[in-house]
Amino acid sequence: MRAGLTHRRAIIVGAGQSGLAVAAALSAEGLRPQHEFVVIDAASMGQRSWSSRWHSMELLSDVRHSALSTRRLLGDQRRHPRVDEMADYLTFVEAGLGVRTVWGIRATGVEHRGNGSTLLLSTTAGEVQTRNVICATGAAAHPRIPEWASLLMAPGVVMHSSQYLYPKQIPAGDVMIVGGGNSGVQLARELLASHTVTLSVRTWRQHRPAMSSPAAAGERVSLVSRKRRPEPVFGDSYEQLRRAGVTIAPAVQAAAGAVVTFADGTQASPRSVILATGYTPGDDWLPESARVDRPRRTLTGLPGLFVAGMPQYGGRGSDTLAGVWKDAKTIAQHIIDRP
Ligand SMILES: Cc1cc2nc3c(=O)[nH]c(=O)nc-3n(C[C@H](O)[C@H](O)[C@H](O)COP(=O)(O)OP(=O)(O)OC[C@H]3O[C@@H](n4cnc5c(N)ncnc54)[C@H](O)[C@@H]3O)c2cc1C
Repeated sequence: MRAGLTHRRAIIVGAGQSGLAVAAALSAEGLRPQHEFVVIDAASMGQRSWSSRWHSMELLSDVRHSALSTRRLLGDQRRHPRVDEMADYLTFVEAGLGVRTVWGIRATGVEHRGNGSTLLLSTTAGEVQTRNVICATGAAAHPRIPEWASLLMAPGVVMHSSQYLYPKQIPAGDVMIVGGGNSGVQLARELLASHTVTLSVRTWRQHRPAMSSPAAAGERVSLVSRKRRPEPVFGDSYEQLRRAGVTIAPAVQAAAGAVVTFADGTQASPRSVILATGYTPGDDWLPESARVDRPRRTLTGLPGLFVAGMPQYGGRGSDTLAGVWKDAKTIAQHIIDRP
């Protein structure tokens, strides 16, 4: 194990906004980076998830709601930042905190060791003992691929929205975007200028204007009903897209060769398909018991193991720039209070 990781009170796994928010909260409690805590990340140096999004992407949240509360994002506070700006901003936050992230190390497991409060963190660089581990590995870590997609053989390309970068990646002709969430809606609008676009929608979501996104980011779920309505889509509504020339189709239920079958039994043979079918969280390296048992906000069934940035451990909005600070402060307080 690299010497730089041993004898630390806390190890933060993930150097995205969630990991850095926890680093900022620990610093605010007087813990020094590289001395009392370290940050590790599996990616190569500086490669945060914002750098891998499609090139024209702007955040749904405006500048005021796209910054960690410790450091403002400068400029017009009502504009929506570009993704490259966010990647630079997080590098700036990291430098301001004096955090020297150890890149290229993947956490692979964590378990309780002995009778005390020691945890054993397994990584691709070896094992390390520590008292606190913070999992900040992202709520949108892995592409969610529907089962039928493995049987699809479109003549153009089939890709997940996480692989989409710009329109020229998609061969000329028609493209079907599967998924009516924010990514699907935004990609449909972008590709309409160069392609014939179909948007396949399973759940009809409410539509809200793009400017209303910040308010929704930290929206709370009613404690009485605990009902989770589908997230709204921001920007274009399905109806606006339809009027602009996008064909709105039902959910895809099956695929065989080049043919997809929709929920109403109709079929189509798109040249290319983009799966805007969402993501699964990056908590797959945690033990099952820690994932199932979540006693309170950010806590897991394993004492000393905390999770930041995932709504299922924190709350609605934990996976947003504006919402993760609450997780970070809670975790820092728990770590300070732990013996
Ligand atoms: C398409 C899209 C658009 C979004 N738009 C907005 C928006 O407009 N406004 C907003 O507030 N939020 C938005 N979000 C949500 C959220 O802000 C982002 O997903 C954000 O990147 C989450 O930050 P994070 O630090 O929690 O996770 P990530 O940015 O995913 O960072 C996790 C880090 O952990 C590392 N990692 C993963 N597994 C391991 C491991 N086992 N060991 C070590 N390191 C590991 C990764 O390399 C990565 O650097 C959007 C999300 C998506 C997918």
